[in-house]
Amino acid sequence: MTEYPHLLAPLDLGHVTLKNRVIMGSMHTGLEETKDWDRVAEFYATRARGGAGLMVTGGMAPNPEGGVFPGAAGLYTAQDITNHRHVTDRVHDAGGLIAMQVLHAGRYAYSPDCVAPSPVKAPIAPFTPRELDEPGIEKQIADIVTAAARAREAGYDGVEIMGSEGYFINQFLVRHTNKRTDRWGGPYENRMRLPLEIVRRARAAVGPDFILIYRLSMIDLVPEGSTFDEVVQLARAVEDAGADIINTGIGWHEARVPTIATSVPRAAFTWVTKKLMGKVGIPVITSNRINTPDVAERVLADGCADMVSMARPFLADADFVKKAADGRAATIAPCIACNQACLDHTFSGKVSTCLVNPRACYETELAITPTERPKSVGIVGAGPAGLAAAITAAERGHNVTLFDRATRIGGQLNMAREIPGKEEFHGLVAWYETMLAEHGVRLKLGREVGAEDVAGFDEVIVATGVVPRDPGIPGQHAPNVLSYIDVLTGKAPVGEQVAIVGAGGIGFDVAEFLVQDRPSPTEDLDEWKEEWGVGDPEETPGGLAPEGPRPEAPAHRVTLLQRKAERPGKRLGKTTGWIHRAALRMKQVEMRSGVTYERIDDTGLHISHGETGENPEVIAADTIVLCAGQLSERSLADALEARGITPHVIGGADVAAELDAKRAIDQGTRLAAML
Ligand code: FAD
Ligand code: NAP
Ligand code: SF4
Repeated sequence: MTEYPHLLAPLDLGHVTLKNRVIMGSMHTGLEETKDWDRVAEFYATRARGGAGLMVTGGMAPNPEGGVFPGAAGLYTAQDITNHRHVTDRVHDAGGLIAMQVLHAGRYAYSPDCVAPSPVKAPIAPFTPRELDEPGIEKQIADIVTAAARAREAGYDGVEIMGSEGYFINQFLVRHTNKRTDRWGGPYENRMRLPLEIVRRARAAVGPDFILIYRLSMIDLVPEGSTFDEVVQLARAVEDAGADIINTGIGWHEARVPTIATSVPRAAFTWVTKKLMGKVGIPVITSNRINTPDVAERVLADGCADMVSMARPFLADADFVKKAADGRAATIAPCIACNQACLDHTFSGKVSTCLVNPRACYETELAITPTERPKSVGIVGAGPAGLAAAITAAERGHNVTLFDRATRIGGQLNMAREIPGKEEFHGLVAWYETMLAEHGVRLKLGREVGAEDVAGFDEVIVATGVVPRDPGIPGQHAPNVLSYIDVLTGKAPVGEQVAIVGAGGIGFDVAEFLVQDRPSPTEDLDEWKEEWGVGDPEETPGGLAPEGPRPEAPAHRVTLLQRKAERPGKRLGKTTGWIHRAALRMKQVEMRSGVTYERIDDTGLHISHGETGENPEVIAADTIVLCAGQLSERSLADALEARGITPHVIGGADVAAELDAKRAIDQGTRLAAML
């Protein structure tokens, strides 16, 4: 008897049966643009072997003007069809099913050639779109339908028509982006003509025995968004037009409400999908922040949907479904929803991967194979770098001992997980605990390790992390000055009014830690909805609460400072930085840049501006917290070298600048893969 009876139940679509209720949602990984089709095929085949019921590819443009950026992958030529056939064949050989997403970006396209129902520029795009005329609309429909037909020719089992997230089709549906007065604009019947024509004609083109998913925006989270009556009307019409499945879209990309970041509560939007249940006769998929089999099972058992879509969890662990089915859910590498290696890469033009799983999208390059010469490996430091090295080396058959002076594993992740909105880090540390046991790593905790302790190992890995940088501010040794470590480990009380020196990742996190009472809104959906102004789409179009965001009062009054003149938080994650900045603004955190630190005394932090110490002022503070960056902890590496032993140095111990868990895990994994 499985723990996940709803999740693992098959689903009969009439012409095909899905083996379970899990769909791997569409992700733009950038793999197709590498044109390395063996790599693309291996990415999907690996996940097919891992047991997803159905996978959806990243969005494929139906024509150049619909591409998210110039040169975005599509399915235009006979060669494209041959390339995609390579992928579908490999997926089918692996026992999987795969649908291709057709994505027309409309005004979200990063191109001067972008087109839309009306010339309304998106706040997140640089170009004003060209308004389509009647033949122009007919061309877009024809191209989308042709892409669907080509998908069938390329061996796909279905298509997903991307009708949500504020892309082209969505832009026709709402008045804010559709100002037309012809038969494609005005009353809702006209505004929804485009998706219905697309679905109707696509169904005619692909035939009855081909999966046709329509992704429908159920809560736009933008002003003048769709009403829920319109959502239901569209869903029913889409069903009548020939769709087999309706997938849920949450929020337009320009929405100022986070929808998938780690601070969004798990399964935060499944209540929206539930509103559609029973109103259409075809299966409905829910999505967003579902990252464990337990959450997915609960969502289905609660009747929120017929299927669950998870995307990033399949980057973190390709074997998600297989492990759940085998009763090994604790070994599923958790997606912590950080976006650091997936979406942040995509938006920087890099191939996606995963912070937790550096093999994601690198399946053909980074092999973890059994070693032919098992060695004894001593690793000092059980932070993410040491942990990744330990489980990878042990998985390969090496004899691994992992040391840490702390009494628990995790290194700095133990501080990260104390930050409100970063609770997912708890799951990551727990997963490492499981995997150390699974692979038989010997753990030696609670004792400082010196060179003599590890000198006898065949291979020594130093993963000793970092120490805080000393900013050298006169007066910083006073009792009212704390380091971020003192604050986050609760070593010292913090006064009501706080000045934070340093506005990097840790400065921002410490600010969130200080302004937010516990439990954080991430653990309380109703509070989170209030904080971000999410309302009921049945009561307010687009689902934005009429009263706007209503955050709780800050728990401390915080000023966050940096010396650079640039906007604080500018270098935070590409897709999540705006959330951190907005969260702190909502808590009235004052952000100051371009400052010089003069001294600290009982009154607070004395600063000036400019190179010549102009406009001196005091930032009144009961407590000053130093978050001035970090330096490598290399004392063990140096001591080993002094003994003539050359250790492998990884993570923060190697390079502290711009260090994050992504780099630490990647470096640890890659080193251990080669030992
Ligand atoms: P560490 O995690 O520092 O681990 C080093 C370990 O070595 C420690 O456990 C230490 O006790 C041990 N050690 C050192 N010397 C010895 C010795 N001589 N003997 C025995 N043991 C020793 N990164 C992200 O990617 N995303 C985030 O969201 C994020 N948030 C963060 C939030 C906070 C508040 C903090 C503090 C960090 C955050 N980071 C984040 C950064 C991330 O945690 C670090 O980049 C990462 O932990 C570095 O990994 P590491 O293995 O190199 O070192
Ligand atoms: P950081 O991001 O490099 O920021 C250090 C801050 O200290 C900067 O604001 C810097 O700004 C200031 N600073 C540097 N030298 C200083 C000096 N001598 N005196 C006073 N101020 C000084 O480092 P961090 O905040 O310590 O974070 C460490 C790492 O953890 C980062 O690389 C980060 O990527 C990672 N992290 C990531 C996340 C995440 O969400 N992804 C969260 C937390 C941490 P000025 O020089 O302008 O003053
Ligand atoms: Fe999830 Fe972060 Fe990996 Fe992206 S990088 S898949 S968000 S864990």
